[in-house]
Amino acid sequence: MTITYQVKRGIYVNMTNRCPCACTFCLRLNGPGVYGSSPLWLEREPSVAEIEESIAGWDLSKFDEIVFCGYGEPTERLADLLEVAAWVKARSPETRIRVNTNGLSDLVNGRPTAADFTGKVDCLSISLNTDDPAEYLAVCRPKFGDAAYPAMLKFASDAVRAVPDVVMTVVGEPVTSSEKQERCRAICERLGARLRVRPYEE
Ligand code: SF4
Repeated sequence: MTITYQVKRGIYVNMTNRCPCACTFCLRLNGPGVYGSSPLWLEREPSVAEIEESIAGWDLSKFDEIVFCGYGEPTERLADLLEVAAWVKARSPETRIRVNTNGLSDLVNGRPTAADFTGKVDCLSISLNTDDPAEYLAVCRPKFGDAAYPAMLKFASDAVRAVPDVVMTVVGEPVTSSEKQERCRAICERLGARLRVRPYEE
């Protein structure tokens, strides 16, 4: 079971397979067998103690950041995520902590949640994907339906007041045209976040 793994100068933490979305581009949906055979697929969710033990196996002084990321959506385990983040902060205050999220934590947890990250997380990286709510619904297929896109924007707006760095991401061309990227940049500027255009990978 892969709980932590290295990507460049970061240690990535894999806590759950669960996610309220079913994005058309999600690695989890790329064909039969991928779901169960991916090295990141968790047969069960690791406990907080198991996650901390796995992180403790790395010399954090050699890495720039800890990233709570896929396989699923990390805020599906918000309380556990925050407990582990606080543990990392106490153990290694210099280590930057980032959460890669679909931004639907408020709907997942049934309450406003951005303030929970204050003091424990340095960066929230939120998948914006598009400036168009209808396209978002078609591509991300959130179980919350029409409520998801505005909830994601509200979470991002709250996050700007809660943590030092809020990044919103889109995939570059050909997935997102340059015109659409500029409209997404305008959304980010309005919210106080910064846009990151991720390179498209076939
Ligand atoms: S939000 Fe992420 S984990 Fe969830 S379906 Fe989309 S790409 Fe997959």
